Amino acid sequence: MKPRALVIGAGPAGLMSAVAAAESGYDVTVLEYLPKPGAKLLSSGGGRCNLTNVLDAESLARRFGRQWRFMLPALNALPPEALREWFELRGVATEVTDGFHVFPSGGRAGDILKALLYDCERLSVRVVTGVKIEALWTENGVLKGVPGYPAEKVVVATGGKGYPELGSLGIGYRLAAQAGHDIVPPLPGLVGVRTVEELPHLCTGHSMKDASVCIDLPKFRGEMGRGELLFTHRGISGPAVLDLSADIAGLLEKMQEVPLKVNLFASRSRNDWLEEFARWQRNEGRKSVKNLLAAHLTQSMAELICRETRNDGVPAAEFTAAGRDALAALLTAMPLRVNATEGWRKAMVTRGGVALKKVDPGTLQSRLLTGLYFAGEVLDLDGPCGGYNLQWAFSSGQLAGRLTS
Ligand SMILES: Cc1cc2nc3c(=O)[nH]c(=O)nc-3n(C[C@H](O)[C@H](O)[C@H](O)COP(=O)(O)OP(=O)(O)OC[C@H]3O[C@@H](n4cnc5c(N)ncnc54)[C@H](O)[C@@H]3O)c2cc1C
Repeated sequence: MKPRALVIGAGPAGLMSAVAAAESGYDVTVLEYLPKPGAKLLSSGGGRCNLTNVLDAESLARRFGRQWRFMLPALNALPPEALREWFELRGVATEVTDGFHVFPSGGRAGDILKALLYDCERLSVRVVTGVKIEALWTENGVLKGVPGYPAEKVVVATGGKGYPELGSLGIGYRLAAQAGHDIVPPLPGLVGVRTVEELPHLCTGHSMKDASVCIDLPKFRGEMGRGELLFTHRGISGPAVLDLSADIAGLLEKMQEVPLKVNLFASRSRNDWLEEFARWQRNEGRKSVKNLLAAHLTQSMAELICRETRNDGVPAAEFTAAGRDALAALLTAMPLRVNATEGWRKAMVTRGGVALKKVDPGTLQSRLLTGLYFAGEVLDLDGPCGGYNLQWAFSSGQLAGRLTS
């Protein structure tokens, strides 16, 4: 008889674990709380699934911050190139859409899920849905499975706490704590933020293609989010701020407001603008500052920004030094104060989770309870936007699923 393995959670980490465990000779059952597997995977990348990117294993790991070395055994065993081949071998071609992000060629997250489920079926993995696992089953310090499901090995691949309607219940932390693991307090990550200022709200629906955002506190100088920035009815969102949002969430535990500085055009400095304003004065004196600015922004945003800087209705010829300074400052260092994030309901990842020090990076087995493994977002690792988190889910899933002692 084959030894039995359980995988808790049918997300990308869990399904990849299940395939690897079955290939390692185990009789595998996946236990999933939701009625269907892979709910978050299906929603990923706006339904297109940005499954990885073009970085090599080490460069990708480094973007996860100071604990990046922990990830190397898993990422070296299944780096981005190999992950793409893995899916290509199963009939899902992938493509690099913009020189960086990797998506399935058809642009359907469903193709990625189907490939995983097809492999599960091929290897006779049972996927049981609608079961919420609330505890491990141990006897005298020996892992016996989970209540109702005896097994020698258990992989916890329950994800984090963000987007609870996609199955993230945070119960994995309880299972890990039951085995004695420390849990780094979870914080919402990759989540939009709410601002005290009204300006973002007045710009709702507008977006900047390439903005940069930094947290305006000494400890964070030099770190910057860059990319698209969206104005929402309560604040800002989009990759430029999402990548900083877990840091912001951490700061909001200690302070009421977190100051940000936003450069609406990441590649333009204050001097670039001042030079452009001088050109406007010289060459286009009869046109209004607002209309000239609208060549870079939408008309309504140009109007708002000119009003905010008291340049509304001013022709370029009468653009004062104070007006030029105020406008250049707002465009390159717009001050915003964040007083909340959009919270768990909208958090695409979780910062925090099962502390890494009692997990063996070479196997992803618990150092506290033999036979217990962790994979994916349940661990205390989170990456930025751009295929990082799914790559980690797949790589860690495969390594944990080998169930190496
Ligand atoms: C809207 C959205 C878009 C995203 N887009 C991208 C993207 O394009 N690229 C990218 O890299 N990352 C993206 N992410 C992040 C990425 O989806 C996650 O990091 C990844 O899914 C984590 O995989 P996982 O298998 O660890 O956890 P999950 O995908 O969360 O899967 C965990 C599974 O475990 C189940 N479960 C939880 N608790 C229990 C329990 N107690 N008993 C039984 N089952 C349980 C859940 O129902 C769930 O199905 C996105 C996230 C969201 C929310």
